[in-house]
Parts: sequence; structure tokens; C-alpha cells
Amino acid sequence: MKIDIQYKENPQGKILDEENMGFGDTFTDHMFTMDYVEGKGWHNARITPYAPISLMPSAMGLHYGQTVFEGMKAYRRKDGKINLFRPLENFKRLNRSNERICIPKIDEEFLLKALTKLLQIDGGWVPHVKYKSLYIRPFIFATDPQLGLRPAKEFKLMIIMSPADTYYGRGLESIKIFVENEYVRAVRGGMGEAKTGGNYAGSLKSQIDAMEENYAQVLWLDGVERKYIEEVGAMNIFFVLDEKIITPQLNGSILPGITRKSSIELLRDEGYTVEEKRITMEEIAKAYDENRLTEIFGTGTAAVISPIGQLKWKDKVMKLGDMGGEVASLLYQKLTDLQWGDGKDEKNWIYTIPEE
Ligand SMILES: *Cc1c(COP(=O)(O)O)cnc(C)c1O
Repeated sequence: MKIDIQYKENPQGKILDEENMGFGDTFTDHMFTMDYVEGKGWHNARITPYAPISLMPSAMGLHYGQTVFEGMKAYRRKDGKINLFRPLENFKRLNRSNERICIPKIDEEFLLKALTKLLQIDGGWVPHVKYKSLYIRPFIFATDPQLGLRPAKEFKLMIIMSPADTYYGRGLESIKIFVENEYVRAVRGGMGEAKTGGNYAGSLKSQIDAMEENYAQVLWLDGVERKYIEEVGAMNIFFVLDEKIITPQLNGSILPGITRKSSIELLRDEGYTVEEKRITMEEIAKAYDENRLTEIFGTGTAAVISPIGQLKWKDKVMKLGDMGGEVASLLYQKLTDLQWGDGKDEKNWIYTIPEE
């Protein structure tokens, strides 16, 4: 498929301000769009100035939540080139989310080509300072203008991009997490594995409760017994316990993070024992009381590695220090060096955007 390019210089009248970047509130000059219609397939691939789009009020995606998304980043290397980290993994996961929400498959290689083109055009928006990056948001939603409940037959796929500071605070500063005992995020058989809007809408109420108590995010427990640990809002979770590293096993309700998978591999390469298994909050609390729990950290594209310095479960507050431990620091260094092109890419995880 050919990509139609409609270039416009500085269409929003905004420039990249590398000193004052938040997260997700400023967008680059252009966006990628393509359409799907049943019988015709994906077509009309185009790169156009970033601007509002027009939709019918009856567009199905607005009503029934048939939407999926991805989150990835572009990183500026010292030599000025732009890196992506395992981009095809994101597009494969997008297809797995599509499968669950009845959205037609996309061509992963073509989408990488489209993103490459978009970055060749808007590459100037990738910050020049290490640890700052350009967040990339591919997403798909149903557009059929009708309200009958059925899988949609028309969709839009778009990619928008937004400069991003480090996610929570500065680098490895730790965050405070609150264990959610009332609400649940996902259950087995549900759609917890998919990056789909509804999972996040359902989490907002807990987020407010946590923030009221001055906690950054919540840790979700399993949806049936509220016993087993699942994950954090947009991060998978790891514990360092008795010199071993433990992370909940993928069970259908946990989002299979690419940072999670990469972290497990990097840690095993470093000689650590990493176990993927079911683990309860009770085991964690007990290990904390017996001084066997040395670190907790989250992994995800947005935050990279985020040490958890305080974990609150019911009335119990567990404290683990402000700056993260040895394992989180090592992993943060390894991942960020790879992403920003300072480390040797032995695993072929890095895709560098070719010059036009
Ligand atoms: C995106 C996401 C993650 C992290 O996935 P990465 O591929 O590592 O960015 C973890 N949990 C949830 C719920 C997510 O949405």
C-alpha cells in the first residue's frame, strides 16, 4: 500500500520545548491514518497534519468500546539517529488485542514502514536529552455509524506522537503504590490481556482513591479471590525476595508487557534467577516482616523501571527506600543504554530509523 503524504510546516504553531515537557499533552506536526471497510480491507494510508478528525456521533467505537491501542517510544541516540525498541513486538501485541476485540488484523511490517515514514517527517520532535523520549500511540477504533450491537465493519487506525518527560518523577526515584482491595481490573476470560480502552476506564475510580491518599497508582489483585498479585496500572511488577526475582505469571488477565519480557531475559543473562509464578500479597507481607523482601519495581514502556518505595496493603505500610535497589538500577541502566543506543545491541532489539 502506498502512503499518501500531505506535508505542512508547523500546522499547530507549536514547537518542542525540551525543558518543560509533561506527558501526552503536546503532539507532533503530523499523524498517520488508514481506514478499514469490510470487503475492501485496510486502505487509504496517509500522513497528514495533526488536526481534529470528523466522526459520526453514532460511530460505534464511542458507544461500545471497540478500541485498542499500543504505547511505544522513539529514543534519540548520541549520533542524532532515532531508535525504536522491539517495535514489531508492539504490532504483534496490537494484533493479539485486535483478535480479542474483533478488530481486523493489521500488517505488522507495513505499520512499521508507516511509523518509520512518520518519524522521518517528524523526527525533530524526538528530544535530544537522554531519558526524555517521544511517546508513540498507535490506536484503532470502530467507526460504523450505527448503534446495533455487533462487531463493527469499519475502523480507523491512527498513530499520533507526543514528547515525553520521564513518566513519574526523575529516573529512579521511587513511587508509592496502594494495593486495591475493592475493585478489580480484570478476570480470567475477560480482556485484561488486551490493551483496550475499557480496561483503563474501569481503573480510574481506584486511581482517584489512591491519589487521595497520596499514592501514585494501584496494584491490582486477581479478580476472583483478591489474593494473587497481578500488575500496576500501566506496569508489570517484580519482587526481589530471598535473592530471587519473582513476577506474576501471565494468566490471561495480566497485560503481557514487552518491558516485562525483556527484563526477564536481561536479568537471566546477568545470572539472576527469575521465576514467573502466582504470588499472594500475604507472601509478600510475610517476606517484608522477615526482612526477606529487598526490592519491588514496576516495568513498562512509559516508566521504563519504576522502583516502588512504599506499598500499602490494607493497614500495612511496607517501606523499601527512596531510590530503588541493585536489581532495579541494573535493569534501568541496561534498558536505557540499549534504548538510547549507548549499549551493545546483542539481541537485535533495536530498530534504527533509516535516513530518508
Ligand atoms: C502497556 C501496559 C503494560 C506495560 O507494557 P509494556 O509493553 O512493557 O509497555 C503493563 N500493564 C498494563 C496494564 C499496560 O497497559
